Amino acid sequence: MSSSAKTMLAAIYMDGNIEVKETPLPRPDREEALLKVETAALCATDIKIWQRGHRNIAPGTETILGHEVVGQIVEAGDRVDQTIVGTRVVIPPNVGCGICPACQAGWDSYCPDYKAYGIGLNGSLAEYMLLSSSSISRGNLVTIPDHVPTRIAALAEPTSCCYRGLQECELKAGETVMITGTGPMGILSIITARAMGASTIIAVDPVAERREKSKAFQADYALDPGAGSFNEELLDITGGWGVDVVMVTAPFAKAQLQGIKAAAIGGRINLFAGLAGDDTFTGFPANLVHYRGLKVIGTTGTTPREMRMVTNLMAGNRLEQLKDVVTAVFPLSDIQKAFEEARRGSGLKVLIVPNERAKV
Ligand SMILES: [Zn+2]
Ligand SMILES: [Zn+2]
Repeated sequence: MSSSAKTMLAAIYMDGNIEVKETPLPRPDREEALLKVETAALCATDIKIWQRGHRNIAPGTETILGHEVVGQIVEAGDRVDQTIVGTRVVIPPNVGCGICPACQAGWDSYCPDYKAYGIGLNGSLAEYMLLSSSSISRGNLVTIPDHVPTRIAALAEPTSCCYRGLQECELKAGETVMITGTGPMGILSIITARAMGASTIIAVDPVAERREKSKAFQADYALDPGAGSFNEELLDITGGWGVDVVMVTAPFAKAQLQGIKAAAIGGRINLFAGLAGDDTFTGFPANLVHYRGLKVIGTTGTTPREMRMVTNLMAGNRLEQLKDVVTAVFPLSDIQKAFEEARRGSGLKVLIVPNERAKV
């Protein structure tokens, strides 16, 4: 427990500002639990909230951001199974209501009444995080063995979003995968696709430096989407067939269209990144979809089920390359520097360590 009895340090967000402050240590009620944060990772969502706010965070409300976390449960209310105390866990952040059609169909993260850590619920950019009764009863706690390094465990949430995206594309071992965009989610998708058995992986990014970097993460080829030779190179690589699975992690309609056109007969294309409000998809290639039997899908978020699969892969040392995705580590006290670093986007994932003595 914190030495200063009943307080903890937390990065508090309000109205576009983020500041580290002493704040009361949350006390779990009879159905809640307390998580000691080992490490939290910053996500594009945190940066977006910092810059533009969020419709679920009312002006003038203090909230603790952060939803990518690994930690240890240190306390649980008397109505909670006490065997969870002491376990190391990762947290699927979106907690569904459990009774709506979306939740019952296993689409918890699409629940219209979801509660999410780092948005409606206080999140992980703090020394401790309160786990709500519904997140405990809905299974939004996934245990992760101690031997998984912190840098890898901290990325369980974003990695499981990529796993879900590829899984919904029905990726089969031996298939060819194209990943458009080599930001953090693109790189995590490359690493995950490899662990899921993809044979050839083609990374696509207009920025030469980012494109080349993707090869260090096991992309077999790195193509420039703007090059005149793009289609020819793609057909060359795939023996004239096209790619079986396309993950469009770049938030551009142009990239989505190119992704659909790159797909082989029977190909599956995931429009994984949302588009900015002023970007619209025009010229949908309906005949291509029809005559090639394509499936164009979308996914967002993750559920306990996918997170469990990802922690299993981590435990089996199948996602070792994730540790190289972490390009900066900051103590909680440097939260502003950390947000600046993540906003610049020159690196990949930024980690926050609330306990200054922790080794990451
Ligand atoms: Zn995230
Ligand atoms: Zn629901």
